[in-house]
Amino acid sequence: MCTTCNWFVFSYPAFRLHWQQLQPQNPPCRTKCVAPPAMSPAARVLARGFSSSASLPKQKWDALIIGGGHNGLTSAAYLARAGLAVAVLERRHVIGGAAVTEELVPGFLFSRCSYLQSLLRPALIRELKLEMHGLKLLKRNPSSFTPCLDGRYLLLGPDADLNHSEISKFSEKDASAYPRYEEQLQKFSEFMDTLLDTPTPEVSRSELPFASRMKEKLEKSTFWSLCLGKILQLGQKDALDFVDLLVSPASKILNNWFESDVLKATLGTDAVIGSMASVHTPGSGYVLLHHVMGESGGERGIWSYVEGGMGSVSLAIANAAREAGAHILTNAEVCYLEIGNSCVAM
Ligand SMILES: Cc1cc2nc3c(=O)[nH]c(=O)nc-3n(C[C@H](O)[C@H](O)[C@H](O)COP(=O)(O)OP(=O)(O)OC[C@H]3O[C@@H](n4cnc5c(N)ncnc54)[C@H](O)[C@@H]3O)c2cc1C
Repeated sequence: MCTTCNWFVFSYPAFRLHWQQLQPQNPPCRTKCVAPPAMSPAARVLARGFSSSASLPKQKWDALIIGGGHNGLTSAAYLARAGLAVAVLERRHVIGGAAVTEELVPGFLFSRCSYLQSLLRPALIRELKLEMHGLKLLKRNPSSFTPCLDGRYLLLGPDADLNHSEISKFSEKDASAYPRYEEQLQKFSEFMDTLLDTPTPEVSRSELPFASRMKEKLEKSTFWSLCLGKILQLGQKDALDFVDLLVSPASKILNNWFESDVLKATLGTDAVIGSMASVHTPGSGYVLLHHVMGESGGERGIWSYVEGGMGSVSLAIANAAREAGAHILTNAEVCYLEIGNSCVAM
């Protein structure tokens, strides 16, 4: 227990971590919004699934994870599977962070922030057996509906024939260009798979012993030769188009491919959603790719709703982590970390 702040302390050689278990009578130090709100019976059942407020066993922890968002939970699952003693400290009364299901209106449960899944890596779903732990994906079909002022509309989805006839209503040229556009994005996504599924080499900031330096050099060479191999597979034209997509505004990319405003506006949504940028912002072209490079149920570019809301993604990962031995504590806020002589407020 810290004598200054009265919070629990975990002491390690390199740092000290201060945390407290939040109680209704023991409000958090900074934010007033984390105490469990009044809930309907249905939401109480759900919250029981999404929270775990039992206290933390007194033991030495190999890894303490601050925050039970889906990334913290994923780290916990993998570390616990590797045999480490792991605990997750989540300040809210529910786990999940931005991948959360909550009762915002009495009797109605919502995906409160994120609402669609596609970017969770397939290897992670497979390795953590998330389907066995309750994850159920419901493919989104149709994927978009764009109404026009003149009464026409553009409906797009996973069916290539439907997409062709829908786009033809506005432009025959665009209808035949669309599968080629998708094909090129698919090729780029395959290149991105390599980056996403391969650990990027660490940049070490301290002097390493000779053996570690050699190991690091080998890891870097393996990584870069893998990337080079993938770029060569793309070929010169696609490789240049790929760089163009990464750095250009989405408007330039879409104008190069298509002529109809309704199609460009529909696809342009993928370049600006959640990115606080316009389609004319350099780099927004990459966001076009970002939103099609995931997959759902083995199908590239498909997004899914999650049964039970996005909190079910976090819950399935938490179940995998618990099964591997991780402890997950809610209402547990980390106040600050002391690293050496410096103190980082959280
Ligand atoms: C509005 C919105 C919509 C989105 N839509 C989508 C979408 O549809 N699809 C998609 O794939 N992605 C979407 N995203 C992005 C995605 O949800 C996030 O990138 C992802 O959830 C981040 O996960 P995380 O675990 O890294 O962090 P977070 O989800 O932010 O989790 C961090 C956790 O740490 C906890 N925490 C923070 N500080 C402390 C502390 N001091 N002590 C203890 N706990 C602490 C927080 O309470 C939180 O639970 C959306 C994001 C937002 C905000």
